[in-house]
Amino acid sequence: MHGLMMDVPLSIPLIARRALTLYGSRPIVSRRPDRSLHRSTYHEVLGRSARLARALRRLGVKPGDRVATLAWNHARHLEAYFAIPSIGAVLHTLNLRLHPDDITYIATHAEDQVVLVDKVLWPLWEQCTGRVAARHVVVMSDDGIVPPGTLDYETLVAGEDDGFAWDDLPEQTAAAMCYTSGTTGRPKGVVYSHRSMTLHALGAGMVHVTGLSERDTVLPVVPMFHVNAWGLPYACGMFGAAQVFPGPHLDPASLLGLLADERVTLTAGVPTIWLGILQALDAEPGRYDLSRLRAMLVGGSAAPSAMIRGFRQRHGLHVLHLWGMTETSPIGTAAFLSPALLDADETTQDAYRAKQGRAAPLVEIRGRSAQGLIPWDGTTMGELEVRGAWVARQYYGADGPDDRFTADGWFRTGDIVTIDHEGNMTIQDRAKDLVKSGGEWISSVALEGALMGHPDVAEAAVVAVPHAKWDERPLAVVVMKPGRTFDEAALRGLLEGMFAKWWVPDAILPADAIPKTSAGKFLKSALREQHRAHYGVADESARGG
Ligand code: AMP
Repeated sequence: MHGLMMDVPLSIPLIARRALTLYGSRPIVSRRPDRSLHRSTYHEVLGRSARLARALRRLGVKPGDRVATLAWNHARHLEAYFAIPSIGAVLHTLNLRLHPDDITYIATHAEDQVVLVDKVLWPLWEQCTGRVAARHVVVMSDDGIVPPGTLDYETLVAGEDDGFAWDDLPEQTAAAMCYTSGTTGRPKGVVYSHRSMTLHALGAGMVHVTGLSERDTVLPVVPMFHVNAWGLPYACGMFGAAQVFPGPHLDPASLLGLLADERVTLTAGVPTIWLGILQALDAEPGRYDLSRLRAMLVGGSAAPSAMIRGFRQRHGLHVLHLWGMTETSPIGTAAFLSPALLDADETTQDAYRAKQGRAAPLVEIRGRSAQGLIPWDGTTMGELEVRGAWVARQYYGADGPDDRFTADGWFRTGDIVTIDHEGNMTIQDRAKDLVKSGGEWISSVALEGALMGHPDVAEAAVVAVPHAKWDERPLAVVVMKPGRTFDEAALRGLLEGMFAKWWVPDAILPADAIPKTSAGKFLKSALREQHRAHYGVADESARGG
């Protein structure tokens, strides 16, 4: 017997119609490259989005065509987010922090037909153009002047009316694409469907994750070019939250000014952004009025517990730790405290806030070691596997079997985790970053978190370095806060007080900076390469990743 309920397709136009009819007057604010603010509303943005949709059709964009964006976070990018999937085309966000050769590879692999480029990013695109076979390049400019051979976004939008029906699309239609920022091998394309995007927006808005509503004003620092700014642009549209976009200005002072002036309630980004913000707040406590800010979502790499505690104790600000991947749209887990923890002391609560947390609604997790599925005992390590309606089942263009996907339909994440009896997951490492010393595993993430807990340390990364006796030993690289002196003995003492002796890195080295990936995570492959011979095993071939 079948259920007798409507089979309403879950598609992005459903979100657009809701935002238009219920939340038209809610603000959309964007910081332009010249730092001025552009103020708009859902009504205006979706009106322009409708015109963009018509213009793209007029340019010959057909269902299934890939339309790329190379853009910062701003209202025009949001227009593209709604317009492109709503004509059945595929929004392909290009990562502007990648090398032009990688952007060229990705745009070519995805067969992008049209590319929308920020004028300020033209110098970057110019290094790809000619090598990417896009039919049209549309430039988003504030002064109406665009490079020869390109189309002006504003002229295109102005040339249409907003008669666009926002009709439903079949829910399994491809809506968007994003390439993994894999540090090993070529980036791989993940293709999101209308259904997965809509369900993810719903999931992202739930109390377990953000508890989003029309009372919120959201500032996604996390880029719209990386996993759809964690789905927030769509979730905000669905729940009516105002959106504030920082454009290209991501320095702590610019972000703090915007968070305070626009009375932002919720913001999101990777730990490196928040480490900078925390330092700026510590330097000038009380300078910014952040009394409206109810949560800072942090994910992409492990949020150090000292940072979570520092925000709470010194500034009354709350971090919500999330875990996710490009392949999981990205939200997989969130460290939302269970009722049992509400009466616990702050130190215990902080320890749970620093875990990656429990699976989001509609997502399932499990861990696997060589012995099979790991027990949920909080200590046994295994590779995290995940399953859910917004988790990829295959990479774009993949031919043949792929061992990242299990025979029974789970995705193998490559993250090494423990899971406790309540389902709280803790990332111990990327499989490729674990230090394997004398046959035992050492969690580089745990050591980094401890080092970043030292009040003088700004950033710390731990990598595995080949070692004649132990196979691998950990090596730490530490960036001190401005004006603080590096003191190896003090750092060693800190670690010795927290970990078994054999976990403590043989070398702790000072550095001016830690290399970062395009998404602002520590680029450990570069550090490993740099320090490969440090323990005297010079001829070891480079480790993957
Ligand atoms: P990406 O696909 O570029 O977003 O990278 C996904 C990877 O980032 C995951 O597989 C994890 O290794 C890492 N990651 C994401 N969120 C967290 C987190 N909260 N803590 C630790 N690692 C994380």
